[in-house]
Amino acid sequence: MNEIKSINANPQYMGITIDFSKLLSKDEILQYLEENGATDRTLADIRNRYESEFGNELMWRYPLSAGLHAGAFIIPVQEGFLSIPYDAMEAQEYELLTLEGAGLMDEDELMFFSNDLKSYTDAFCSAMEDAVSILLFRNQNNKNGLSKSSLHDFEPTDSQGHSMECTKCGRAINFYEEEDWNKGLEEKCSK
Ligand SMILES: [Zn+2]
Repeated sequence: MNEIKSINANPQYMGITIDFSKLLSKDEILQYLEENGATDRTLADIRNRYESEFGNELMWRYPLSAGLHAGAFIIPVQEGFLSIPYDAMEAQEYELLTLEGAGLMDEDELMFFSNDLKSYTDAFCSAMEDAVSILLFRNQNNKNGLSKSSLHDFEPTDSQGHSMECTKCGRAINFYEEEDWNKGLEEKCSK
């Protein structure tokens, strides 16, 4: 588990020094969502407002299940950091928010989100890289298998190996007919 590294004298959020008094309060946001629809589409109004005030939306979506909820939005507000969970999605309104589950997050909860997503991401990326390796290995094998099986499968028919015959189609080549020998080694077997 990662610990909170240090307490900075001038803490920034995403590289931005935030004047928290300029943020909306928790109740202002919840009330706005209640009146205009508790959906991600309504949250866009708040994102736009923060974007024009701070040059950044300042809002994150936590995509993993959080407690009993499918995920959550994390929004800085005057009092701190507000989490608003969502449980369902809809084509027009996107995430449907569960306002009853909204609340200010403390340091432990924020750190839990961070650690949880990090370990999920690490495990996910490592699994996907394994999957890519398996497919690459499989493709390589298919390619090798194909080129090998398409050629004649010659076996010598004398002790010196000066004449050979394909065990699949019976094509015979002789070392003393050099041109045909070389051609035979490279040509595709019909069987
Ligand atoms: Zn053959």
